[in-house]
Amino acid sequence: MKKGIHPKYGKAIVKCACGETFETGSTVKELRVEICSKCHPFFTGKQKFVDTGGRVERFKKKYGIED
Ligand SMILES: [Zn+2]
Repeated sequence: MKKGIHPKYGKAIVKCACGETFETGSTVKELRVEICSKCHPFFTGKQKFVDTGGRVERFKKKYGIED
């Protein structure tokens, strides 16, 4: 692998809109996210996620997630 061709993959600090920060691996140093595992029940596991009545669709719409 020639030097300088591939972006350096290292630690990135992810900053969430809720104020939570955590580390991940990325080619950039800092990432900003709207939502993280700490601030949404979809990810926390505190409530069991069951897709009834299009909850997934609404979630996707709300956060601009596209299939
Ligand atoms: Zn968050």
